[in-house]
Amino acid sequence: MSAPTQTAAVVNEKNPPIAIARKLTKVYGSGDTRVVALDGVSIEIERGSFTAIMGPSGSGKSTLMHCMAGLDRPSDGHVFVDGNPISTLSERQLTKLRRTRLGFVFQAFNLIPTLTALENITLPIDLARGKVDQAWLDAVIDAVGLADRLGHKPSELSGGQQQRVACARALVTRPSIVFADEPTGNLDSVSSHEVLTFLRKSVDELGQSVVVVTHDPGTAAFADRVLFLADGAVVGDLCDPTVDSVIDALREHSERSRARGRHTTNGATGDSAKGDDLR
Ligand code: ADP
Ligand code: MG
Repeated sequence: MSAPTQTAAVVNEKNPPIAIARKLTKVYGSGDTRVVALDGVSIEIERGSFTAIMGPSGSGKSTLMHCMAGLDRPSDGHVFVDGNPISTLSERQLTKLRRTRLGFVFQAFNLIPTLTALENITLPIDLARGKVDQAWLDAVIDAVGLADRLGHKPSELSGGQQQRVACARALVTRPSIVFADEPTGNLDSVSSHEVLTFLRKSVDELGQSVVVVTHDPGTAAFADRVLFLADGAVVGDLCDPTVDSVIDALREHSERSRARGRHTTNGATGDSAKGDDLR
């Protein structure tokens, strides 16, 4: 791995991107089982923006998100989040950064069943023995629209409400950036809309930066920008997406991929070969 030469340049820029990936490579396994999940991905995520990442199953979306969020280490390349060189931090520094500066939302809501909604939301602060910023907490709770459900346990909440609690939990520390991997994957369309409306509000009204991985053009249309991945590489970049423009772009990338003869760095095992490109 080469030295992280970009740090100084990033810090000195007037309005630096909130997250940067430089020539990110991730290889799993070796020999016959070698998989190139990321093949030199370079992206910049604008501060205070909502970005969607799309691509066929197996194209590297989760791997990219995990490497950018410090949940996984890249094989090569560098990641900076809010000026922090994620890929070269020690495990201890990374853990601290993840706890305090990064927010996560997963497809499974991962709430603690015995805690109330409010206790789940403030859990990251309680675990870090930090002090709740009441004004910020009130703003998050107001945006999430769950003020009358705060005393309820997860089992007493709908899927959409549970995921909104998970989103509020991701935002409670006022992170530099929130990463959400298919956050609406387990939700019906009404609940998905609630969650996405909240994430959108967190960008527009609370100034947060949000990155969402999704298969769904309707979800991507909530974003300011959509990045398209295929075979571990960025193949498209769409600003101000609409459902129609996302569907058109997905179709175009799928046709280009077919024209390339479905050559894939991931071998024949990638789900992309199962024809779910337009999901
Ligand atoms: P996506 O989220 O776009 O569906 P992933 O990032 O999960 O794609 O996976 C990209 C590629 O890397 C796939 O071919 C997948 O099988 C492979 N992969 C992901 N995680 C692992 C792992 N822990 N070990 C081996 N291969 C993996
Ligand atoms: Mg995935």
